[in-house]
Amino acid sequence: MREGSRPPHSTLKGLRAEAFPTPFCAGCGHGILMGAILRAIDKIGWHLDEMLFVSGIGCAGWIPSPHFAADTLHTTHGRPIAFATGAKLFRPELKVVVIGGDGDIASIGGNHLIHAARRNIDLTVICANNRIYGMTGGQVTPTTPQGAFTVTTPQGNPEPPFDLCRLVLGAGPPYGPRHTVYHVKALINILTRALEHQGFAFIEVLSPCPTQYGRRNEQPTPWAMMQWLKENTIIVKRALSEDIGDKIIIGEFNDAESQALLF
Ligand code: SF4
Repeated sequence: MREGSRPPHSTLKGLRAEAFPTPFCAGCGHGILMGAILRAIDKIGWHLDEMLFVSGIGCAGWIPSPHFAADTLHTTHGRPIAFATGAKLFRPELKVVVIGGDGDIASIGGNHLIHAARRNIDLTVICANNRIYGMTGGQVTPTTPQGAFTVTTPQGNPEPPFDLCRLVLGAGPPYGPRHTVYHVKALINILTRALEHQGFAFIEVLSPCPTQYGRRNEQPTPWAMMQWLKENTIIVKRALSEDIGDKIIIGEFNDAESQALLF
């Protein structure tokens, strides 16, 4: 870096510059998600000191902690929603945001997820779904596609995955969109609405893991993973009128017609 120049992250409000560089692998989608969350908060105009970020264990748990210049609670594996529920009950004026991966939130913490949704607790839960356990070595999760290779499914995953939006909307909350880190502007808009939602909001964010998922599943580079997200997702509006094949539907499922696409 040239003397006097600023690192790119210094232009983004809410980041602790001393926490950089991040621990994420090159090409990981979590850095994009990190920036999108902070941009959404900035867009709303909230101050980080009126917020609490709760994370568990896993690569996505590092998004808020130690990088956000805010109060963060870095908890045990699978339990961030339980800790967040307690924090919200104790300090209801705080805007409490849970950030975690699919292993943390949908596997080990899956029970907490469905019951927080059922109770419509006033939390925002952001799930970075990379479809594998990243930090712990590449094991299968409940969102790993059928047939995909992981260290624990060396001959291909024999089980069907959860559709997380379907799971959560079936459990009760009125807001449960899905988007990707490839579509970053749309992602920021959806994060903004999820943060402002009163009650339980769950947002699934498809985020590439080139290190553990991509190299085992014919997407060997970060570029290949982004290209896959672009080519294999379809926005709700188009899905209502087109044959979607195996594409993953992204966007907001706010009415009966769009929710019917999931069920
Ligand atoms: S293992 Fe995967 S999810 Fe974890 S930091 Fe590396 S690329 Fe990202």
